[in-house]
Amino acid sequence: MPSILVYVLHYDGAFNKNSLGAVSEGAKLASAIGGECHAIVVGDKAGLSDELCASLGGYGATKVFRAEGPEGLAQPVVDAMAQVIRAGGHGYALFGGGLLGFEIGAGLAARLDAGVAMEITAVRAEGSKLIAERPILGDSAISEIHYKGDLGIIISRLNAFEIRETGGGAAAVEDVAVEYSPWSTKATMVQRGEQRGEQVNIEDADVLVAGGRGLGKAEGFQLCEDLAGALGGAVAATRAVVDAGWYSYSAQIGQTGKSVAPKLYLAAGISGAIQHKVGMQNSENIVAINKDANAPIFEFSDLGIVGDLNKILPKLTEAVKAKKGG
Ligand SMILES: Cc1cc2nc3c(=O)[nH]c(=O)nc-3n(C[C@H](O)[C@H](O)[C@H](O)COP(=O)(O)OP(=O)(O)OC[C@H]3O[C@@H](n4cnc5c(N)ncnc54)[C@H](O)[C@@H]3O)c2cc1C
Repeated sequence: MPSILVYVLHYDGAFNKNSLGAVSEGAKLASAIGGECHAIVVGDKAGLSDELCASLGGYGATKVFRAEGPEGLAQPVVDAMAQVIRAGGHGYALFGGGLLGFEIGAGLAARLDAGVAMEITAVRAEGSKLIAERPILGDSAISEIHYKGDLGIIISRLNAFEIRETGGGAAAVEDVAVEYSPWSTKATMVQRGEQRGEQVNIEDADVLVAGGRGLGKAEGFQLCEDLAGALGGAVAATRAVVDAGWYSYSAQIGQTGKSVAPKLYLAAGISGAIQHKVGMQNSENIVAINKDANAPIFEFSDLGIVGDLNKILPKLTEAVKAKKGG
């Protein structure tokens, strides 16, 4: 029966959110097709304790392959996954999205001559096969991807899968000695930085305060930063403003930027163009502030505020701070 191998990204003593969602989904799908869900982690063994790796059993993984290698680089993970899949005969490799997931998944597809589908928002089982669903045509339709061959690679949109604790016991941890290709070890991680927000990574943040051209100028982002700071969230942006140099490209949400799914996405001075929408529409709650009552963003907002963001954002920040006691 085909098993599923899920790549799990680890950093600083914890697994990232979308990886845990991918393990949860992998476990659900594996049980539907009669296989097992295995996870693979690559990193410095000192940071990947037996206990930490085994904790993936709580999300449904039955086995965790642990490979000593550079953390956060794609090619070494491609080597490790290819080796594990060749030996284990896994039918599917699953990734929870993110730039690294895209890069590893594409590399793995090339290495093992496998079919690959990206930006997947749902997967279902039919018999012993998986079928992936990918939104197309600006998310107005869904295409179904069926896999031929021995291995199918599924790369989801970021945070497309819900994290579910199964209450399962510890997963078995198996060390893998990977034979890295000479080119895989040429790149080294020089520095790793978080993308905006003092303690919050934009892709993992529960709250995002996003700013658009309605902020008027680069300095307008201070209003978003103040509110994000009060809410304990991070700041995001539209392409129009990052192209204008008002904010960092790493904060761009949308078709040519990142896809996010926070609990709260507050859009200030953003019109709601389709290319922006595709990157944030999976947010649990969307709140929009726009002075134009006919702005498209109101069509997919849970709460809309028609008004001037220069007046509303500082008041919101004040109110949040007051509620939190300063
Ligand atoms: C191939 C392609 C790819 C693209 N990829 C992306 C992408 O990844 N991400 C992305 O975001 N865009 C992308 N775009 C651009 C996209 O089409 C829009 O141009 C862009 O999203 C608009 O950004 P905006 O909402 O900040 O600006 P605008 O569309 O100019 O909207 C500004 C809004 O601010 C409101 N406003 C103005 N002043 C105030 C005020 N004082 N208070 C409250 N509201 C105010 C206005 O009413 C308006 O609705 C892409 C475009 C193309 C062609």
